[in-house]
Amino acid sequence: MATGTSSDADADAQPDTVDLAIVGGGVIGALIAYEAIAADPDLSVVILERGLVGQGASSRSAGVHFPRGATARVRALTEHSHLAWQQLAGEHGLPIREVDATVVSAGDPFAISTTYLRLGVQSTPADLPAGWSAPPDARSWPLYGCQHADVQQVAARIIAGLRGRVRVLEGTEVTELSSGSTHRLTLSQGQQIHADRVVLAPGPWIGHPAWADLLAPLGLRVKKIVAAHIESTPAPGDPMTVLHDEDAFLLPLPERGHFLFSYTCDRWDVSPDDAGLVLEPSDLDDARAVLGRYAPHLAASCTSGRVFCDAYSPHREPVVAELRPGLVFAGAAGGSGYRLAPAIAAETVAALDLAPTRVLSEPLQRQA
Ligand SMILES: Cc1cc2nc3c(=O)[nH]c(=O)nc-3n(C[C@H](O)[C@H](O)[C@H](O)COP(=O)(O)OP(=O)(O)OC[C@H]3O[C@@H](n4cnc5c(N)ncnc54)[C@H](O)[C@@H]3O)c2cc1C
Repeated sequence: MATGTSSDADADAQPDTVDLAIVGGGVIGALIAYEAIAADPDLSVVILERGLVGQGASSRSAGVHFPRGATARVRALTEHSHLAWQQLAGEHGLPIREVDATVVSAGDPFAISTTYLRLGVQSTPADLPAGWSAPPDARSWPLYGCQHADVQQVAARIIAGLRGRVRVLEGTEVTELSSGSTHRLTLSQGQQIHADRVVLAPGPWIGHPAWADLLAPLGLRVKKIVAAHIESTPAPGDPMTVLHDEDAFLLPLPERGHFLFSYTCDRWDVSPDDAGLVLEPSDLDDARAVLGRYAPHLAASCTSGRVFCDAYSPHREPVVAELRPGLVFAGAAGGSGYRLAPAIAAETVAALDLAPTRVLSEPLQRQA
């Protein structure tokens, strides 16, 4: 195990060395740190975060987990993460609450039953709340196992529980990265850290000059994500409605006193540091147009929202990729980084040749 510390007196003589440096203290970096320490409690680990932990894309997340996946790999990641979040929420008192949900679609019912993992019995015509409408051929299904989280708090609490075992350097940007016998990270305060292994978990900051060239072959892109806020107070027990054909959902947020409407914004190649990455009038127009087809009474109350961005892979699956020996990128979960974070962490730890824990990485077959 590396020492992980150096005194001021010998800072010039003895490099600051760690076994594992994790760049990025979002929900994915937090879960990777958790999983790495669970795999090897003696590992010296540092999390390097340019701002505060949880304040990147994780702080803007709608925080929804649905048991669904468009591909077999994402369904496997979903199963794994579903059970891991249940366990982590219980053990660590995380701000995660279960939500009843209904899926609505006028498309191929077979595609619905393949994509979603915990569907109830289909209703034809769709069983919708009062005031809602849908195409005449639309059906609905109850969807079990959905939950909503305060993702920023989840990341912060997981990292808080690791302090003492993991060094957390906030306000610390990694400005350069080079690899030789170890990986050398230069930090914004000027010091350097030498790490046997490095994980890059920078969320949408994939274009940072320290790693942009390394990531270029992965073909990742950054897309704007918008979730509108609906000024209408949820009633107790209001379900989430998933508009499958629109790739959209309406989520009651009783703790905030409004609904959130997530829909697909198709603006690509934005930067998380771009001052122009804001809620535009056209964003609200787009949200109202989609929601208005199903819940016109709510569309009129669509007056504000949250905007940020996330990294996406060409195949729309999360990426865990070894860029150089001992240097792994983890992320590009394409708007699903919260719900898939435990499985991404397990894959990352395995890619670092650490033994992932049974709990978080064993293919889990049992049903929740
Ligand atoms: C509006 C919105 C709604 C969403 N809704 C959902 C949802 O319902 N369900 C879901 O699963 N996902 C959702 N997502 C996606 C999800 O939030 C992200 O996929 C997830 O938060 C990504 O986590 P991360 O740890 O990779 O990135 P981040 O949370 O962005 O963390 C990366 C961290 O790296 C740090 N960093 C970057 N560069 C450096 C550097 N050079 N040095 C040091 N630190 C650095 C950043 O400061 C940041 O804190 C949503 C996203 C948005 C924007």
